[in-house]
Amino acid sequence: MSTLQTKKNIQSFDWEKYWPNLSPLYLSYLELERDPYYTFLPTDELEEYLQKAMHIGAQAAKSYIQMDNLSFFNHVLKENIRIHLLEQHPQQSNIRAQYNRKKQTIVIYKNSIKEIQRFLSNEIGEIAHIDLIILHAYHEWFHHLEETSIGRTDLKFRSVVIKKRGPFLVKRPLSRLREIAAHSFTQTALGLRWSPLLLDQFRYLLSKGYTNAKIRESFQDTQRTYYAIINKK
Ligand SMILES: [Zn+2]
Repeated sequence: MSTLQTKKNIQSFDWEKYWPNLSPLYLSYLELERDPYYTFLPTDELEEYLQKAMHIGAQAAKSYIQMDNLSFFNHVLKENIRIHLLEQHPQQSNIRAQYNRKKQTIVIYKNSIKEIQRFLSNEIGEIAHIDLIILHAYHEWFHHLEETSIGRTDLKFRSVVIKKRGPFLVKRPLSRLREIAAHSFTQTALGLRWSPLLLDQFRYLLSKGYTNAKIRESFQDTQRTYYAIINKK
């Protein structure tokens, strides 16, 4: 047990103390912007979509807020879902974790855990391994809930019209809304003061060689762009 006590706990650390922070709303916007059909969403609906997706995740997390790690793992086992730890995804090494409904498993890739651990430990000391496993497990657990009880997040929204063929409209759901909800679920369930979306955003910006100053600038740009979009009538 002593190793758990000497390592930093993921809930207790304050992202802002070490790195530029961006609030969940803007991070969710960056996430939705990557959806292949994002450009078909009318701009006056953007904020409502983001808020609703975050709300769906946070609501679903309510019964998990008081749950400790052991109770969570027991809860998962009771529903016959197994958690597997594998070295890395066979084709796409950037995939952190996956839920497979047919196989009733959540797979978490260790290379991703190690990568996050390296990144965090440079600044704040070693984070307990179990905390990073739980961070991924909660995210995938939300996708399990989507498939089995609460329904797919993207299908709770109006699909966007991507084409008109005569009298017919071709519509598509925005699947990235599921990711926004899953991250919001994880943040709320674990009581984090920062959105787990920050980890992906940082990974992306660091891979482009950004310094903290440049990241801060890019976050300010994001906020400006966001307001320009939602105020465009
Ligand atoms: Zn996901």
